[in-house]
Amino acid sequence: MTIALPPPKLLIGGRWLDAPAGSIPVINPSDGEEFTRIANGRANDIDTAVRAARAALDGPWGRMTALERGRLLLKLSRAVQDDAEVLAKLEAMDTGKPLKQAKADIVALARYFEFYGSSADKLHGHTIPYLDGYSVMTFWEPLGVTAHIIPWNYPAQILGRSLGAALAVGNATVIKPAEDACLSVLKVGELSLEVGFPPGAINIVTGYGEDAGAALAAHPGIDHISFTGSPETGALVQAAAAKHNKPVTMELGGKSPQVVFADADLDAALPFLVGAIIQNAGQTCSAGSRLVVERSAYDRVMDQVADRFSRLQVGSSDMDLDLGPVINKQQKQRVEGYLDRARKDGLKSCAQGRMAPNTPPGGYYVLPTLVGDVPPQHVLAQEEVFGPVLAATPFRDEAEALAIANGTEYGLVASVWTADGARQLRFARGLKAGQVFVNNYGAGGGVELPFGGVKRSGFGREKGFEALHGFAALKTVAVKHG
Ligand code: NAD
Repeated sequence: MTIALPPPKLLIGGRWLDAPAGSIPVINPSDGEEFTRIANGRANDIDTAVRAARAALDGPWGRMTALERGRLLLKLSRAVQDDAEVLAKLEAMDTGKPLKQAKADIVALARYFEFYGSSADKLHGHTIPYLDGYSVMTFWEPLGVTAHIIPWNYPAQILGRSLGAALAVGNATVIKPAEDACLSVLKVGELSLEVGFPPGAINIVTGYGEDAGAALAAHPGIDHISFTGSPETGALVQAAAAKHNKPVTMELGGKSPQVVFADADLDAALPFLVGAIIQNAGQTCSAGSRLVVERSAYDRVMDQVADRFSRLQVGSSDMDLDLGPVINKQQKQRVEGYLDRARKDGLKSCAQGRMAPNTPPGGYYVLPTLVGDVPPQHVLAQEEVFGPVLAATPFRDEAEALAIANGTEYGLVASVWTADGARQLRFARGLKAGQVFVNNYGAGGGVELPFGGVKRSGFGREKGFEALHGFAALKTVAVKHG
């Protein structure tokens, strides 16, 4: 199937506009070739988009009931499902991920719009018992214009979770997707107009982070920023938002541990121990990038994980194998830099996957690698590599396992594998992470499950019903009636 690529335009006030600064190339990570262009949005375009969003709040969008907003989101969910094949191909080509993973991302995108479409009219306030002669009630109201800065690793999913919740509450939105991968976001923009979202409810400005992204973060006309990306860029966004005292949600990086006790059901665990790090070639904020294994089971677990690693195949997104390429040349160099450093420090590569025959030359491929006996303080066990590298470390007892698991500056997700019921809960309670999985990893990624970090992984929660509160202001009304 040949698919029509979204034109290099900006979606502002319900219309597709050219960017005065022209366009920027989009590279296919599977072969390193330019395959399309996107509009080069800059500060002036951001300003026009913020104004269009503000106008939407004063127009038909701002007057819609919660039920009407919900119905529009449900229509958008249906439109995404109807166009799922096109969206998945765009996402796979743009990010380099295997097609089957892109298909799963589009299923999740539709589900986010469905979940938030059905939640829009269920965001209730309360009444509060108070002094004699008063009636007090609360209302959840939209914040106003919300900004959404999206990374390149899961453009469709991350758009779905933050846009869906913001629109359900009644905010008008300005989206700045990542310059490396944003075609699925543009396609959703097209679908949003087709299903009848009023002009200005959804604005999309593509462009470079340091131009369009920085201008959006610093714009005085926005009322909230939802940022998903690296901790370093997150700090810049926080600083820009602080100048105007704007609230932010920070969904940042991770160095998530998979802790395996000797009594764990290894057959059940194995697909997760490997899958949690190779998904999207390790470029997942919640990647299980550390394997922390009880000493008495260490050799047995490592043998089996190594066996699976050595059978992994890497190829282009349309070859649809275990892993695709990483997103770009810099990311490839970054991951290979970590592997070089590990080698120089004498760490042992226990197993590597292999390139599939006929993989296009010029793509940004990195072989999935299992590294053994990594000291907990080594950079490979501390820093977010954002590639298919699993760092394994043995532990002696439960106390040491917890210290290692919690011993990084991150706290996004964590998993523990053990058959001991008391230990399951004790350990889960001791882990410092926003999501904890017992005898699984990721819990199927459910959109219903609140997600977000502690420590350097960020703050605020997206996904689940709780995300609606993050995009809403709670107003208290106290009526004195005697
Ligand atoms: P990034 O921080 O480089 O970019 C994220 C977005 O910010 C992009 O749209 C980019 O254009 C924009 N940006 C860049 N500079 C900017 C600036 N000065 N001001 C405003 N915006 C700017 O991140 P990335 O490399 O695209 O994504 C990888 C990172 O994202 C990893 O650290 C990963 O863990 C994290 N991530 C977190 C989650 C989560 O939910 N916690 C999900 C996915 C990715």
